[in-house]
Amino acid sequence: MARLWKQILKILDSGDEPVLNQGEMTFLGFDEEVAQLLKLGLLKETLPAQSVYCPGCENGCIMGFTRKPSGLYVYCDKGVTSRIAIKPDDLRQWKIDFFKLSQVICTELSIKEEPECKVVNKLYRLGIYKVDKLFYNLYFSPNIKYLEEVKINSKNSVLVIPAEINSDNINDSNTELMPLNRVMDITENGLKFDLEIFNQLLLSSMQQKPVLSDSSFIHSDDFCTVTVNGEEFQFNTRQARTVEILYQNYLKGVKFCKQDAILSELDVPPSVRFVHIFRNNKAWKNLIITNNEGFYGLNI
Ligand SMILES: [Zn+2]
Repeated sequence: MARLWKQILKILDSGDEPVLNQGEMTFLGFDEEVAQLLKLGLLKETLPAQSVYCPGCENGCIMGFTRKPSGLYVYCDKGVTSRIAIKPDDLRQWKIDFFKLSQVICTELSIKEEPECKVVNKLYRLGIYKVDKLFYNLYFSPNIKYLEEVKINSKNSVLVIPAEINSDNINDSNTELMPLNRVMDITENGLKFDLEIFNQLLLSSMQQKPVLSDSSFIHSDDFCTVTVNGEEFQFNTRQARTVEILYQNYLKGVKFCKQDAILSELDVPPSVRFVHIFRNNKAWKNLIITNNEGFYGLNI
């Protein structure tokens, strides 16, 4: 089943934005799937329809309607009766709420960050996703033409797209593509997200492109042990967290971060600076470097 969701992804893949009309959805038997999409908050209401699916015959005629004091009617000469009442609800229409869809993907991937809208209805940054000790910068776009933007802005980036695309020029890209139709489905029973396949797709693409693994920077899960070009560093919890934040920013393409911004994430007293945090650690000025403007980054 799940015919509706597959159709939605197919329409998105072709570059159009699907509009779901209640009358049409009922006519096509998609009521329950629409109900699930609404329940998941994935639809936002848009302008009502100007024409409707005629409920009076089986020809699927799409026609205008007439507003009378007693209600709304279509006049179809192909059915048993020529005047057929339609429900006002049949005019209701929805579009996909892409921000909400981004949130749903984040939830399924246990990404704690809120998605960030880069270009309305076009490009959303989902956050950092970690699998097998590798960090990926996840983006979602209903439209493939934003691939370039993702590629430029970050390293180890993965762009979630509606479905596979038959395009040859995508192969040269450093951005991995994750077709949503392979991992996510919405049936009349609700949302299904296949985390295992998601991870498999990420890892198999990584094997083809070992560049994704930053071999010069190896870290333990908690970042308490980090090896850079063969040299090992050991950190306490606060230092490790600092390095983790700097590394996550590095993966996003941000080489130097404002000290104050990072300290605010660390829950330290206001007077504490990086120089205190890394006191007596050889990483200071060796791995943790500054560009002399209160901005710090990793020397990798
Ligand atoms: Zn008709």
